[in-house]
Amino acid sequence: MIRHFDEGDLISVLTTQPLDRTLDYKAPEGGCLTGAFVEVPLGPRKVLGVVWGEGEGGYDLAKVRSVIRVLDAAPMREEMAEFLTRAAEYTLTPMPAMLRLATRSPGLGDPPSMRTVYRKGTGAPDRWTDARRRVMETLEQYGGLAFTLSELAEMSGVSTSVVKGLVKQGVVAEEASPRDLPYPRLEPGEAAHELTEEQREAAEALKAGVASGDYGTTLLKGVTGSGKTEVYLEAVAACLKAGRQALVLLPEIALTAEFLTRVEARFGAKPAEWHSGVTMTERRRAWKMVGEGGAQLVVGARSALFLPFRELGLIVVDEEHDTSYKQEDGVLYNARDMAVLRASITGAQVVLASATPSLESWANVEAGKYKKLDLTARFGEAVMPELAAIDMREEALPSTRWISEALTREVRARLDAGEQSLLFLNRRGYAPVTICRACGHQIGCDHCDARVVEHRFLKRLVCHQCGETKPMPTVCPSCGAEDRLAPVGPGVERLAEEVAELFPEARVAVLSSDLFGSARALKSAIEEIAAGGADIVIGTQIVAKGHNFPLLTLVGVIDADLGLQGSDLRAAERTFQLMRQVSGRAGRANRPGVALLQTYQPEHPVIRAILSGEEEAFWRAEADERKRVGVPPYGRLAGIVLSSPDVQEVFDLGKALAERSQPLKRIGAEVFGPAPAPIARIRGRHRVRLLVKAEKTAPLQGALAEWVGQVKLPSNLRLSIDIDPQSFY
Ligand code: ADP
Ligand code: ZN
Repeated sequence: MIRHFDEGDLISVLTTQPLDRTLDYKAPEGGCLTGAFVEVPLGPRKVLGVVWGEGEGGYDLAKVRSVIRVLDAAPMREEMAEFLTRAAEYTLTPMPAMLRLATRSPGLGDPPSMRTVYRKGTGAPDRWTDARRRVMETLEQYGGLAFTLSELAEMSGVSTSVVKGLVKQGVVAEEASPRDLPYPRLEPGEAAHELTEEQREAAEALKAGVASGDYGTTLLKGVTGSGKTEVYLEAVAACLKAGRQALVLLPEIALTAEFLTRVEARFGAKPAEWHSGVTMTERRRAWKMVGEGGAQLVVGARSALFLPFRELGLIVVDEEHDTSYKQEDGVLYNARDMAVLRASITGAQVVLASATPSLESWANVEAGKYKKLDLTARFGEAVMPELAAIDMREEALPSTRWISEALTREVRARLDAGEQSLLFLNRRGYAPVTICRACGHQIGCDHCDARVVEHRFLKRLVCHQCGETKPMPTVCPSCGAEDRLAPVGPGVERLAEEVAELFPEARVAVLSSDLFGSARALKSAIEEIAAGGADIVIGTQIVAKGHNFPLLTLVGVIDADLGLQGSDLRAAERTFQLMRQVSGRAGRANRPGVALLQTYQPEHPVIRAILSGEEEAFWRAEADERKRVGVPPYGRLAGIVLSSPDVQEVFDLGKALAERSQPLKRIGAEVFGPAPAPIARIRGRHRVRLLVKAEKTAPLQGALAEWVGQVKLPSNLRLSIDIDPQSFY
């Protein structure tokens, strides 16, 4: 309940500091509301907090300190407080960490800062020049809008001194304006295209959901290019028309540029953006405007879910199956699931869009919890690519070659026809392993239990676990033999070498996340390729995610078996999704596409399911198997990782936990381990894993909290609990 506290009233404040309780303070001069963001003294420091409710009292009131000041930000809404509380309970995260996630806006406590802007003044210039005329044209064209100096100069194609000269003469007016301005209003215009019958029906269903004003989740399933974006933008439009805010989550920053362009075309202006590539001042503006209602639509990465929306009506999770929605450090949460939680508290709609939904979402549809809408046709003349396997057992390639003859022929045919080919290999770097041919030693990371990957562009060996790099040694670190170190296996950089030898005349582009310093660089590389700037594209999984390459008609998957190795319970699901996403890159615009999968096991059920395109059958088989062994989404898992520089300590504690499993047994859960984690050492810390498995309806979180609460953690030991783990490392 929202309450107003008068000056001197005892209030409790949740701070961002790692304490396991709220703290009592006195309300400041002028009082404060529940939910107000405040600055409070803590020892010698000032820290950020939020007014949580009435103080608890029970001690000497004379010693209670006062809130320093109330910050200039919209108070946290009750539903946001409830969302954070329930998300904390679900993920077993302490509340202060949740609050940090919800206040990741730099300068939240700063007074509203000002900046200088320029608009049309009243004076007349002493003389007209071309440059001066262009400045006036810009100002007139945009009516009463004000610009910063560099914006105005850039838009008019003049130097800033031209603008300054006009300011002197009063032709352009200079004034101060608050930095955190509302975003331009979005005007939901007409859809870019006339929707097909199928698209229209789906859009109507989503709009009806938005109009209901209630919670609901819909899985929007359709192959790449079937118009999912087109359809969910209709729901966004309906939401904005109803005066509510919308949030669109995308799995990859590189995708936002393309999406923003579409939003601008449709709504007349750009929405607010929220991801790691956004400047600090823009982040602050976005955070504040979302809270005050000055941002109608936010496009962002998973953490945008923790923005202080005032009136959230719709959350779209695009590519909902994408693993990047799971945050793997700090607060371990899955943005897809938290979106559903937030919407259910707030009374908003969720749209989960994907060509290859997660098994979790399939299961929720089947259980009647989510609705499902299908877009079956690719838009226009584009059809799904023809899929075929290349049986690598018959190809007999030497061990330093990875492109089969069959695939080489196909690439050559595309080159001759002036079309693009994509060679997909989900391995960054030059070679995954560097081995000594004298002693067989494989070079590893000094801090992790992992092999290092050679990156030739960087001229370094890189650990993909901790990021440490070192130069390539000339002698074997184990036996001292000179010049006997050799790369084993391919990465995209090595594949590029092979391509250069096979097709010396081709223009080759390598797309791998580590080869681009910024999202902008990656974006421009993608645009150049889309415009025909390359004949052969070599890429890791970043190419699988929704980019449009209209000239692409061939996809060659170098190693379709890669994801099938390993014991990950989602290995089959991931391979299936990734292969379908990648093969969906071919033939997007009016040219038929072909996808060829190089495999040593063409009769593997997953490969067969991909080739046959019998999705339902694949998902049904996968679901049956998971039901049989009682794992997600038909059972629940929690992964516990203990880590410490002291190997004995982690094992001792792991054993102590395993022996005290009574609280888990009570809910019928099983404990496995302790066992060394698949990567047994990262950054010098030894890692031990326990796995807890329970039935779907078991009250897992309470039991876990009680269980780990029984042991006292040594100060250098870290314990993390991952509810619904997505990766097992
Ligand atoms: P998805 O999100 O399913 O990949 P998109 O919404 O991006 O699909 O649509 C794929 C392409 O087809 C886009 O270029 C889009 O503009 C175009 N498109 C989709 N629906 C229509 C339509 N009804 N009429 C014309 N073009 C369309
Ligand atoms: Zn390392």
